Amino acid sequence: MATFLFNEIIFGPVKSRRLGVSLGVNLLPKDYKFCTYDCLYCECGWTLDSNKKITLHTREEIKATLDQKLQEMLGANEAPDNITFAGNGEPTIHPAFAEIIDDTIELRDKYFPNALISVLSNATQIHKQSVISALNKVDQNILKLDSAIDSTYKLLNQPKTPISVAKLVERLKVFNGNLTIQTMFIKGEYKGEKFDNTTDYEVGKWLELLQEIKPKEVMIYPIARDTPLEGLKKISEEKLNEIGSKVRNLGIKINVYN
Ligand code: SF4
Repeated sequence: MATFLFNEIIFGPVKSRRLGVSLGVNLLPKDYKFCTYDCLYCECGWTLDSNKKITLHTREEIKATLDQKLQEMLGANEAPDNITFAGNGEPTIHPAFAEIIDDTIELRDKYFPNALISVLSNATQIHKQSVISALNKVDQNILKLDSAIDSTYKLLNQPKTPISVAKLVERLKVFNGNLTIQTMFIKGEYKGEKFDNTTDYEVGKWLELLQEIKPKEVMIYPIARDTPLEGLKKISEEKLNEIGSKVRNLGIKINVYN
């Protein structure tokens, strides 16, 4: 299906269903998706080869490009709600991620002090202290947890270096609640294996993990764009709202994006 790549370091601003007027920062190559996961629903398409040698933009190049774009936006009186790290893969893979976050905070404070800095991450690099520290500095540290069940997690996210969900949760807990959990609800079939993370069993186990992780917020959503795997089923608004109510009943802030 028609998935797409972001062909710039800075893209947008775009109107995002979750982040309002969002100026995107892509720390990955412009012509290549590079990720530690290969989610069946990834809007950037399949992860072709995670062992390929890639060239990343330098910290200096990223700072200069962001500086120029923010200057232009200031001149046009066009304020972003969010400066969002997303793009063609996992942003925290960049070896200078922590320094780039420091640069972004400096530029945000200079041009648009009211804008939030958000990072959309799959949480695979949060065993690194530099990544934890950087994520603790941003306004919205949004980390992926699509299932509490190992087999569903592995099927949906296709991690290149699988760890257990228990290990992942242990790492998420180091933020002491300073994180948002993002979960894609979805069902379908891949290579003969069916999956559905909206069943009562799946949702019940996921809710148990939320109680352990204690995020300040949870974002749940269905597929909205084309996906690399065909035949994925979009979860109904009614079902997502039902799951959202269960999160709310735990006293955790929930945002349902239909
Ligand atoms: S973690 Fe994000 S970028 Fe990586 S494969 Fe999954 S959806 Fe795509």
